[in-house]
Amino acid sequence: MSYQAPLRDMRFVLHELFDVSGHCQQLDNGLDRDTIDGVLEEAARFAAEVVAPLNRNSDEQGCRLQDGEVTTPDGFRQAYKQFVEQGWASMTGPLEFGGQGFPQMLSASFHEMLMSASLSFRVYSGLTEGTVLALDRHGSAELKQRYLAQLVSGEWTGTMCLTEPQAGSDLALLRTRAQPQVDGSYQLSGSKIFISGGEQDLSDNIIHLVLARLPDAPPGIKGISLFLVPKRLLDADGSPAARNALSCGALEHKMGIKGASTCVMNFDGATGWLVGQPNQGLACMFTMMNDARFQVGLQGLGIAEAAFQGGLAYARERLQSRAIKGPVALDKPADPIIVHPDVRRMLLIQKTLSEGCRMLAAYAARQLDLEHGASDPAAREAAARRAAFLIPVVKAFFTDCGQEVASLGVQLYGGHGFIREWGMEQLMRDSRITQLYEGTNGIQALDLIRRKLLGDGGSELNALIDELATQVHQATAQPEMAERVGQRLEEWRALGHSVLQACRHDPEEIGAVSVDFLAYSAYVMLAALWLQAAVRASQALAAGSGDAAFYQAKLQSADFYLRRVLPRAGAHREALLAGAGCLMAMPERSFAF
Ligand SMILES: Cc1cc2nc3c(=O)[nH]c(=O)nc-3n(C[C@H](O)[C@H](O)[C@H](O)COP(=O)(O)OP(=O)(O)OC[C@H]3O[C@@H](n4cnc5c(N)ncnc54)[C@H](O)[C@@H]3O)c2cc1C
Repeated sequence: MSYQAPLRDMRFVLHELFDVSGHCQQLDNGLDRDTIDGVLEEAARFAAEVVAPLNRNSDEQGCRLQDGEVTTPDGFRQAYKQFVEQGWASMTGPLEFGGQGFPQMLSASFHEMLMSASLSFRVYSGLTEGTVLALDRHGSAELKQRYLAQLVSGEWTGTMCLTEPQAGSDLALLRTRAQPQVDGSYQLSGSKIFISGGEQDLSDNIIHLVLARLPDAPPGIKGISLFLVPKRLLDADGSPAARNALSCGALEHKMGIKGASTCVMNFDGATGWLVGQPNQGLACMFTMMNDARFQVGLQGLGIAEAAFQGGLAYARERLQSRAIKGPVALDKPADPIIVHPDVRRMLLIQKTLSEGCRMLAAYAARQLDLEHGASDPAAREAAARRAAFLIPVVKAFFTDCGQEVASLGVQLYGGHGFIREWGMEQLMRDSRITQLYEGTNGIQALDLIRRKLLGDGGSELNALIDELATQVHQATAQPEMAERVGQRLEEWRALGHSVLQACRHDPEEIGAVSVDFLAYSAYVMLAALWLQAAVRASQALAAGSGDAAFYQAKLQSADFYLRRVLPRAGAHREALLAGAGCLMAMPERSFAF
């Protein structure tokens, strides 16, 4: 299947909904509309022409491990070289280390394109950007000086080494040890599993950020520290030289993203340096994890867009049966399946979820940008609270959507969707991991309730609802839609209050309601954004500013979303109000007889 970046929709979201040029002025980074559009067009070309053609083969060929060296699929090395040489790797990096400092609102569009083109290819650079963030914020001046510029340029890549066989969601269980040395360095020993890009042939050096315990560390998560451990130690000039005492012991054989190496990494007294303060590793790692969670959300969006494009192309070509109200393609033996109501139902779910997530991604990216770039400290703090609330929703909801939309892609192709050559089954397999890594979606939902809702007694939730409600009041161009959305926003407020009460009263409620509360919140947020899209579309149509078909489609999509997708929120509400009782009442022995 071929991929073309959805540039028209991206421009609508960036310029018409979120005024990305004004946002850039606020951040004082000098990007104007023409530059932004130029970047989007070049990015679209890179994703479609350089990366997308590699995706199918990367799935067939996978990565290979021989004598401790990993070979990535054919074409990845050349494409990665272009990625670095053309400056795509340094797009978001800090200016002082050679980065271009692009705002996330813009880079998220490029990253979505890369995810659609090849999730596997994007894995390598995605984690590098997180490494840059963590190091920039928590590393010592010396570590930054030695490592950051090459990570920013993409010449070296980064990894995130958390997971161990006995420690997945529960990092308190991790055992990797770090022994202090007289020269101020540490020797790390232990085994990490599932490390993305742990070994590969794309870059001259790999910089691992590793969670480990110091000898005197307290037990649990309060005793975890973060270390920088390079694959190759640097010589006096700062060039990669001798190999460090670490190796890739095995590659995992997996369901999808076969072009991304997933490694067992063994640290056998490897030399590393502390990042941040002792026993504060998890807090430092959270900088990287928040970025990575946003990026994984974009993976869900990228997959959804790719599956929608594939499904739509097929639905326009595949001839089966006649339209119920009479033939449409009289010159053909049957009509294209897009005439059938159920096929349209599937396509519109694909379209409205993909475009809805794209709007929410831009909204979340704006908060991430302001969190770090707003000149006013109060604005930075407000954006940080908003971003923290949104990140688990973006990660879990977008990836659930990615899987649903990919599955609809398979369904739209009928039996052919199950056959490899059409690409839909690869999207479905590739997207499945996104619901698992970077904290499973269940863990994201717990995070939303525990840290984001209970953490501040619901004040951020209410602030978000207030902001969205203000926009609903201003949506006079679409009164019927506004009423529908306004009702849901007040229902969400009341639901948040009930959830808070229930969880304070019985901690088991937290885990019992979390997934449904996250899904409910996401569907309502998307509804508020679809309303805004509909308002912009009505304004553009009223102004006669051209492109009427695009704006009509926006209005019709908003209508579909509010009538046919938003009702899902009601089912989640009903389920979560049922509470923990019916989950916990059954004794464990009664689960099977
Ligand atoms: C392809 C791939 C790439 C990966 N890349 C990396 C990487 O680069 N770096 C890295 O460090 N790790 C990586 N991981 C690991 C990944 O982040 C973990 O697999 C994930 O966090 C879940 O941990 P686990 O597999 O141990 O599952 P577990 O923690 O054992 O979870 C099993 C199930 O129990 C649920 N569960 C667990 N605890 C709770 C709880 N308290 N409440 C409710 N439900 C709970 C989970 O939601 C899940 O459904 C990768 C994994 C894969 C497969």
